[in-house]
Amino acid sequence: MPTRREEIIKLLEERELSLQSIANKFCVDLKEILEDIEHVEKSIRPKKLKRRHAECKNCGFVFKERSKIKKPSKCPRCKKEWIQPAVFRIE
Ligand SMILES: [Zn+2]
Repeated sequence: MPTRREEIIKLLEERELSLQSIANKFCVDLKEILEDIEHVEKSIRPKKLKRRHAECKNCGFVFKERSKIKKPSKCPRCKKEWIQPAVFRIE
């Protein structure tokens, strides 16, 4: 049986996913997926984990300076809470 990390790699090779949706899929805490993804990033070399930054769906503000994977809760520009989370994929 493949490990969860192997399954995550397979999923991210097929499509873009947010960490929360991966966590939901495996019914585990987001924290566990955070650890997985750090491990995955190292183990897939020379492939790369590509990240699309979180973005405000209202005004298009991009949360570039957020280095960590945690989802921002509020847009600093328009103050709306309609945030598209960062998504990951493997190339
Ligand atoms: Zn905004």
